[in-house]
Amino acid sequence: MPNRAARKWQGLPKFQEAPRRRKIGTILSLAGISSILLGLGWTACYLYVDRAELAAPFLGVVAVGVLAVVRSRHADGTSLLIVAHGVFLSVVGVAIIDAPIAWVPRSGHLFLLPLAAGAAFTFDARERYGSLVFPLVCLATFAAFAIGALDFLAPGTSPPIEVRVWGARSNTVISMILLAAIFAIYRKDIGNRLRLERELGRAVRNGEIEVHYQPQVHGNGVVTGVEALARWRRPSGDLLPPGAFIAQAEESGAIRDIGLEVLRQACETLKQWSSTAHARHLRVAVNISPVQVLDEAFVPSVAAVIAQAEVDPALIELELTESALSHDAGIVIEKMKALESLGLTWALDDFGTGYSSLATLRTLPVRKLKIDRQFVVEAVSQENAQHLLGKILEISQVMGMSALAEGVETTAQWELLVGLGCDHFQGYLFAPPMPKDALEHWLAARVQSSLLD
Ligand code: C2E
Ligand code: CA
Ligand code: CA
Repeated sequence: MPNRAARKWQGLPKFQEAPRRRKIGTILSLAGISSILLGLGWTACYLYVDRAELAAPFLGVVAVGVLAVVRSRHADGTSLLIVAHGVFLSVVGVAIIDAPIAWVPRSGHLFLLPLAAGAAFTFDARERYGSLVFPLVCLATFAAFAIGALDFLAPGTSPPIEVRVWGARSNTVISMILLAAIFAIYRKDIGNRLRLERELGRAVRNGEIEVHYQPQVHGNGVVTGVEALARWRRPSGDLLPPGAFIAQAEESGAIRDIGLEVLRQACETLKQWSSTAHARHLRVAVNISPVQVLDEAFVPSVAAVIAQAEVDPALIELELTESALSHDAGIVIEKMKALESLGLTWALDDFGTGYSSLATLRTLPVRKLKIDRQFVVEAVSQENAQHLLGKILEISQVMGMSALAEGVETTAQWELLVGLGCDHFQGYLFAPPMPKDALEHWLAARVQSSLLD
């Protein structure tokens, strides 16, 4: 059951939902292959009965089919929208020619039904045009054809009667098969989602959430902290990355428990490190989902986890993605301040990907800006991207915040960032995220090698 906070926060831009892409890909392939087969079949039929002029609209159907197959590889909302309109126009074209005569009903318009159902099920409910307006237009057009309101558009020429009789039967069967296939895909999709939601709801209780840690390094080479990154260990043994479950957990509200569990494990780690020489100074950064922040219990539940763990709150840094400020910024800032007053610090994650104004930025209780990896990648190859990165680093200095560049993979990126004044780094160049034991070995080896140097 989606929680209120999840509904309040309406965008999930960070996670390209893999299941949604798969669904779009399947629907586009289905639309493409059926359009190509139907279009070619009818073109061949009309050429065979010497009515080439009637074959033309079906070549349009083939073209839309090819487009759908090509776009199925992108499997994004825009492809879906383009193909849906292409199919709509070609079905309308065919239905116009296919005017009813005394004992042969019109049948081409029946394809508007699977088209309406396919769009309603495949577009996200947030995309109102695709999931609601477009299906309603399909249904209204279907009704207009069904009651003969568009018969006046029919051209003077009509397909041969024997072809019409056969066409009416086959169009009815094929369009109903397509409709049934769309319902089957939808049922399966809902089933998968519900199963994942159920399993996610149990993941924390079953101890399936694992935390990996990725080091954060200062420009002088000293490791200053780690970022805690959630992984989901399935009962099958598979380890799922956050991209495979965070979006779903945000939608279902399970992220509240998962987020607190990551914080709880991070605090446990801090507690263990507090008695070790080489790790007691390390700060742990924990990601906070916008859905968590908007939940009423957020501040007291975070405070309770920290109080229970008896760790120094100054060693906990909470990371909030910049896009979280696009809704209810006032409420979000209030909660950030409430936790800051307990001694925790905040970092603004994926900086540069949201739309927070400089005025908002100034009012945020944020100590660190985490510069999104995309900026780092582009800055190496594009001069204007490099200037932009330089300006972002200047902004962080003016605001009195430190800046951490994410996703640093090469020495060239690192050197460029150092030159531009960046002071903290995180990325595969230093170390990937790793389980706690592996991280402790990595830290020990680093201390060892610095002693030898
Ligand atoms: P993020 O907060 O931007 O985390 C950094 C991501 O970049 C991590 O992916 C990390 O493995 C990856 N990364 C680090 N260095 C490099 C690099 O040099 N190159 C490249 N290509 N990638 C690098 P990961 O662990 O898959 O996490 C993905 C996202 O999932 C995180 O992005 C964060 O938004 C979210 N996430 C992870 N754990 C949690 C959590 O406990 N709670 C919430 N709400 N979100 C989480
Ligand atoms: Ca983060
Ligand atoms: Ca980030």
